[in-house]
Amino acid sequence: MIQKPKGTKDILPMDSYKWAYVENKTKDILENYGFKEIRVPVFEQTELFERGVGDTTDVVQKEMYTFLDKGERSITLRPEGTAGVVRAYIENGMSSLPSPTKMWYMMPMYRYENVQKGRYREFRQIGAEIIGSASYKADVELIVMADQIIKAFNIPGVTLNINSIGCPECRAKYQEALKQFIGKNLETYCDTCKTRFEKNPMRILDCKEKKCKQLNQGAPVIIDYLCEECNTHFENVKKSLDTLKISYIIDPGIVRGLDYYTKTVFEFVSETEGYTVLAGGRYDGLVQELGGQKTEAIGFAMGEDRLIDIFEKYNQTNEVAQKTPSLYIASIGEIAEEKLQNLALALRKNGIYIETDICARSMKASLKYADKTKSKYLLVIGEDEVNTNTAKIKNMQTGEEMDVKLEVENIIKEILK
Ligand code: ATP
Ligand code: MG
Repeated sequence: MIQKPKGTKDILPMDSYKWAYVENKTKDILENYGFKEIRVPVFEQTELFERGVGDTTDVVQKEMYTFLDKGERSITLRPEGTAGVVRAYIENGMSSLPSPTKMWYMMPMYRYENVQKGRYREFRQIGAEIIGSASYKADVELIVMADQIIKAFNIPGVTLNINSIGCPECRAKYQEALKQFIGKNLETYCDTCKTRFEKNPMRILDCKEKKCKQLNQGAPVIIDYLCEECNTHFENVKKSLDTLKISYIIDPGIVRGLDYYTKTVFEFVSETEGYTVLAGGRYDGLVQELGGQKTEAIGFAMGEDRLIDIFEKYNQTNEVAQKTPSLYIASIGEIAEEKLQNLALALRKNGIYIETDICARSMKASLKYADKTKSKYLLVIGEDEVNTNTAKIKNMQTGEEMDVKLEVENIIKEILK
């Protein structure tokens, strides 16, 4: 039997409603903050991610699904959303729109990862981007919104960790200090780290190898090297979060896995699961890097698969319950079947959720199926009922039966009572 590729999942009908619940709830919050949806291609030119995400990152060096198409173009399945969104922003001249441009997306991403708990090869992200604001106020709005989204799902033990990784100016000084520190043990680091030493030593701090993690302990932290502007920016973000009583932890160790980040970076970490559910930061240089004008921006991406794993663990709420039919209609005989068809169609056109038998089952089997569908009401039509235009409608929870006229308005009145 052919099986699904490693690291992918089937979201089955008995689970998909949870995804819809999370998506709808998140979408409501995003839209109340003025974010509008953007959809970009699943695949892009490989160069977009090499330039955007950065060619010394794990994502680009190890995790991309890259192939040559039949026209010999190098194509990559998107490993993240921001690069594509920024490309679309530039390509479609969106800088002429009222600024800032606030966008959200809900898209599957592809990374050739070491598959494990919370780490898949196809996974879904819900992301938000604010393009066109350099102010700390944009950081605050975005972080506050992310906090509201996380809190909407009643999952315990999620903490907000923040840091600032400065701008190219403060980073230059910092990288010198970092290179001095790492340089002492460079021979002991993994091969990937060695190759990153000259070009991007900060990447070494994000290495997932145990050995390198140990060597990194006690490394200088960028927060001690911030220039005045970056420092003020970070202080303002913290002050606003304090004012809004959003609790956070300053974690000078956050460097993030993608190269485009500047200044504020943040992660919402599930302490119980030991992984990050939502992460983001400023990327003031990316629009320019990808060929646009100098435009400051900030964004985040939430790992929807991870959120749902935790959500399922802590929530058994009825609120999320799957939709069940309002009415199941069964019939005996040909004339009654005709009546059933007409009623079902008319009721469905009125927006009522109706189930009927479409497997040519016996009456006994049909009623058993009615039970399985968890219909709220049951209506059985035979020849007598057609002749008198009246039938019994049964409340499946209470067992109570009522006579109802076989007219759409009467049935609706009964089942919506
Ligand atoms: P990590 O350090 O955990 O690999 P990252 O820096 O690669 O994370 P981002 O690219 O910032 O993560 O992605 C944002 C969020 O998307 C993550 O916090 C996580 O919730 C989710 N995510 C990232 N990679 C995966 C994956 N392979 N499977 C499932 N969710 C993922
Ligand atoms: Mg990663």
